[in-house]
Amino acid sequence: MPIMGALRALERATRPYDPEFAEAMERRWAELPDAARTPGQVLGRHGVGCEGTHGVFPKCNLKCTPCYHSRDANQVRVDGPHTHEQIAAQMALLRELRGPRAHTQLIGGEVSLLAPDDHAVALAIMRDHGREPMSFTHGDFDYDYLTRLALGEDGTRRFGRLSFAAHFDKFMYGRGGIERPPDEEALNLYRARFAAMFARLRREHGVRFFLAHNMTVTPGNLDEVAGVIRDCHAMGYGMFSFQPAAFLGDERRWKEKFREATPDAVWAEIEHGAGTRLDYRVFENGDVRCNRTAYGFSVGRRWYPFLDGDDPRDLAVRDAFFRYFGKVTFTGTPPALLAARVLRVAARHPSTAVTVLRWLARTIHRVGLLRLARHRMRVRPVTFVMHQFMDADVVAPAWEMMQRGEQATQPRLRETQERLAACHYAMAHPEDGTLVPACVQHAVLDPAENAALRTLLPIVEVRTPTGSSSGTSPKEK
Ligand code: SF4
Repeated sequence: MPIMGALRALERATRPYDPEFAEAMERRWAELPDAARTPGQVLGRHGVGCEGTHGVFPKCNLKCTPCYHSRDANQVRVDGPHTHEQIAAQMALLRELRGPRAHTQLIGGEVSLLAPDDHAVALAIMRDHGREPMSFTHGDFDYDYLTRLALGEDGTRRFGRLSFAAHFDKFMYGRGGIERPPDEEALNLYRARFAAMFARLRREHGVRFFLAHNMTVTPGNLDEVAGVIRDCHAMGYGMFSFQPAAFLGDERRWKEKFREATPDAVWAEIEHGAGTRLDYRVFENGDVRCNRTAYGFSVGRRWYPFLDGDDPRDLAVRDAFFRYFGKVTFTGTPPALLAARVLRVAARHPSTAVTVLRWLARTIHRVGLLRLARHRMRVRPVTFVMHQFMDADVVAPAWEMMQRGEQATQPRLRETQERLAACHYAMAHPEDGTLVPACVQHAVLDPAENAALRTLLPIVEVRTPTGSSSGTSPKEK
């Protein structure tokens, strides 16, 4: 009977848990070192962690200090077919080892050096493998590129939603219109322009977006972090992510005493910009020495956490979320379907509805009805993140020892091994079926990988009639 068939299909589609996702998380939890199995740990409870591509388009046309890519990266041609082949293989392995759903960064060199069509194909491959892709860029591209990415040749939308992480800081040289930024404030115009392109795309073509703002922090811009947050909080970025610089990648670009910008000092500046204390223990992603995260929302200029770590009632909400909703796949699920799944969980566990309503009442009270009314109930989710890569001089020996099954006794190497074991950010190696932490990729594997790519995808020098030369690919000739 068609009606019965449709009801059965609806029942199947709205089942709250995908057993494959649930199994992937159980595996992830089992792999975590004991120290990372904290009450706030997200890995293995609501996600498997973040993923990233490597060796797919290593070249970049800006110069950053520091740069996490090896010195050969800029000698590799950007090539669509190579990118697609590599991404398909890497995604297949991630799908196999980490389950059906995850957030994955389309990262390497500069993503906008890919032709828009090639970029779109790469995103589609990632989605086909259950990955929710986020393209990593320096943000120096125009609206024409964005529309050619988002729309097909006939002008119809290729994607309902795009995610980008845009990296802006004053240590990036060569940006169009601002070759050498004098300070962070001078980049605000470019930060605003970048976000405004996506608002226009949504207005004109209905493509929704999520934007993260990335910034490397060194002693040279530490005291400008708070200003960036204050100036850019309402531009449209849903995440502000800061990376204290590490001695990783191309050593020719290590210019400062990076370690003076300590994680605590950087986090204090982020708090300063947010205008409040940010509790990074409520939710944890891997090891807190690698990642600090504070999830919340802004109303006007003020930021509020979703859950107050000092309120046991809020911590009980977190625990209930993990218990009842942790295995529901949020990533990549259409909103209507997600709502149906959440409602089914609530119907099975009515106490969750009570918990949510009480939390909502407390949160509204915290913000204040007057304030909400003044801002016409406009609530903007904003997440603060700090991710601290580790230095190559500790990652390489610590990883080598781990490969031999040895536990380091030297404190710095011991810490490195603990962090690598709880890594939140994995990259896939289809050639040997392994996953590695991104720190290992950059510190240990990138140099040989990029040297090989340099041979595989050489850049050909083209002489122009004036005698100047430019690097291009054979196809561009
Ligand atoms: S081990 Fe390295 S790549 Fe993994 S989460 Fe820690 S800092 Fe990031």
